[in-house]
Order: sequence, then structure tokens, then C-alpha cells
Amino acid sequence: MNELDNHTFRLAVAQFDQAAERMNLDQNLRERLKLPERSLIVSIPVRMDNGTVKVFTGYRVQHDSSRGPSKGGIRYHPDVNLGEVAALAMWMTWKCALAGLPYGGAKGGVQVAPEQLSRGELQRLTRRYAAEIFPLIGPDKDVPAPDVGTNAQVMAWIMDTYSQQMGYAVPGVVTGKPLSIGGSLGREEATGRGVVNVTLEAMKHLGLDIAKATVAVQGFGNVGSHTARIMREAGAKVIAVSDKSGGLYNPKGLDLPALLARYHVDGHGSLHEAGMGERITNEELLALDCTVLVPAALSEQVTHKNAPKVRCRILAEGANGPTTLEADQILTDQGVFIIPDILANSGGVIVSYFEWVQDVQRFTWKEKDIRERLHEVITTAFHRTLQFSKDRKVSMRMAALMSGIDKVAEAHLVRGLYP
Ligand code: GLU
Repeated sequence: MNELDNHTFRLAVAQFDQAAERMNLDQNLRERLKLPERSLIVSIPVRMDNGTVKVFTGYRVQHDSSRGPSKGGIRYHPDVNLGEVAALAMWMTWKCALAGLPYGGAKGGVQVAPEQLSRGELQRLTRRYAAEIFPLIGPDKDVPAPDVGTNAQVMAWIMDTYSQQMGYAVPGVVTGKPLSIGGSLGREEATGRGVVNVTLEAMKHLGLDIAKATVAVQGFGNVGSHTARIMREAGAKVIAVSDKSGGLYNPKGLDLPALLARYHVDGHGSLHEAGMGERITNEELLALDCTVLVPAALSEQVTHKNAPKVRCRILAEGANGPTTLEADQILTDQGVFIIPDILANSGGVIVSYFEWVQDVQRFTWKEKDIRERLHEVITTAFHRTLQFSKDRKVSMRMAALMSGIDKVAEAHLVRGLYP
């Protein structure tokens, strides 16, 4: 479909096609699952602090709802477009199915550089966007969450805007909220903790010792910063981290607590200026000799150009779609063990599910329970995927996609086609 055509959407569809071919998926279902169920484009007029009105473009795409409400984050980034949001929504469908969560996939986004807005402008933009997508969202319909460029405060404004329309507090309309309005303990760090949980399982599988492991993390937002911190707490040496300003490298291991204390994850910090290691570029970080490389920034960072230089043993995909199709093949040929995005970064939506369950049941869980259940759900998904990849002799990415797609296909077939 023309409107969706962009490189990220083509990547998601190409992955789907490969998996569908491999699993001999029903042709009618292939046609349907390649496209989103519903897409909305909205114009968001915002009164700026200087009195002028600027109009931003926003999206919400629901890829599938056969297994439950659709679920997925909202991204604020200048490059957001319909094709990218549709690709991310499709990946959410497979991710939720793979983890066994009763959700379909969705994603939203606004074409904006949030760090260039004042707090007031950001709030007005968020509220108007929430009002525009109001007909689509709801605890039983579609449940947004944070993604690149959004955070708990943005979720709080969406929850408030939705609740004002309904006339009562509706905490279950979004996840990743502040604790005071129905957020969950452990949600903020959940994606990073999940990345570490599955990486440790992969290391056990490959016979690698955590005490001797070195880790490089691209991206120092919510996912990258928590992954780096928890990797270090687990005993690994984090030798490099980066953000869009560039990276820091220290072969003896970075002092992460000190670095985190100085750096603001809200997008206003600059790692390059933190001056706590040797300065390197993002390209240099991807080529570091290390045990684990975690791309935790944007999509399509590992490409056919830089993949031949990648020197890690494990690639744990913290971001969505960080590896192109060509790079995936190159890394596989080089013997890199890839933990694919829909598995590696599923800790976020797993704990989002726990948050939503707590909201609808009006019953809160302890942080210990959250961590234990996250560990159980994500490591079970990891071992199921590993077993599937051995049994069917396919890569971990194909195994993850095929298991996710299979659950969704089963739901479609048993529900039948309406009307
Ligand atoms: N944006 C996150 C993701 O890509 C979390 C989605 C959610 O919690 O719904 O998985």
C-alpha cells in the first residue's frame, strides 16, 4: 500500500514474508496481516509560547486486535511517519503474541522534536493529540505507552485528557504512568531489565561467564541507560555507551552510577560532555570488540555497511528494528547470536501488561513480584524460541517471528472472517 511505503515498513514486511513463507502461512491471512487493521492521521494545532499556532502531524496505527486490545507506545520524533508507525505496530503484534500477552499490536507517533518544546507546549501538544485519537483508545480497545521521546509525564497527560472526557479516572487507558495515578513499580526499568534477563540466558546457553563479559550499549534513553546499569549490577563490565551526541569508551569499565547521576535521560543531557571516558562515535561503538552489543536507539542502525565490522558475540536488540535484513544475514554468517527485538525488548510491554492488570483489578503488586514474573515470562519466551529455532533449524529471529505469527494466525482462523 503506497501510503505506508517507507524503509522501516518494508523491513517489517520483508521479515513477515520470510517467516510466512517458512511456516507456509495461509495466503489469505498473509494479505491481511501485512497491512494494519486501522490507521489514523491527525493534525494537532498547538498554541506555542510566542502566541503563534503550529500544526503537528500525529498517527495511531492498530495492526491487529484478534487476541485482545491493541497495545503499543507513542513516539515523539521529527522523523516519525505513517510507514514507520505501521511497522512498529506490526512488531508489537508479534511481540505480544510471542510473550503470550492477551494483546494485539499498535503504535502512535507525533512528528516533533520534543526537546525543542517548553513544558507547556509539550503538554498542550500531548492533550490535543490524545483528544484527536480519543475515538480509538481505551482500556479495552487500545492502550498506549511510552516509546522514544515520551515518558511517564506524557502518559499522565493522556490519562488525564481521556479521564476528563469520560468523567472519571481511567488509569487503564495508558501504561507507563506515574505511580500516583496507577503506574506500576518496575515499569520504567522493565525493558532494560528484560534485555538483561534474556542476555544472561543467552550467555548460559553459549557457556559465557558474566564476570568476564564486556558490554557496549548504543542509546542512553530509557532502554539503554537501564540496560547498562542492570548489566553492571549483574557483574558485567560496561565498556561503552552512547547517545546521539556520540559515545564514551573505557576498556576498564565505565563508572555507570556516576555517569547516570550526571546525565539526564530526559533528552537534555549529552554524553559526550560528561567527560568520563574516551570519546568515540556511534559507528566506533558498534565496531567494538565486546561480548554483548545492545543497540538501544533507533531502527536500522546495523546495516550491510557496518555489520562486517561488528565484533560482538551476542547482539541483544533493545531497540525495535535496529538490524536491516542484509545486516541480519551478515551477522548470522559471522556467528553472532542474535536476540531479536520482539523478544529482547519485550520486558517493557510485559510489565505494561502487569500495570494494566493492576489497574483493571484495582489491586497493586510488590516490586519483587513484578521482577519475578517478568523474569519468568521473558525467560520462558526465550527458551521456547531457542527450542523452536533448534527444532525447525531457523535463526532466533525467524523462530520468534514464526511463533508470534502462528498464535495470531490461529486466533484469526478460529474467529473466522467477518461478516
Ligand atoms: N514502546 C514499547 C515497545 O516498543 C512498550 C510498549 C508498551 O508497553 O505498550 O515495546
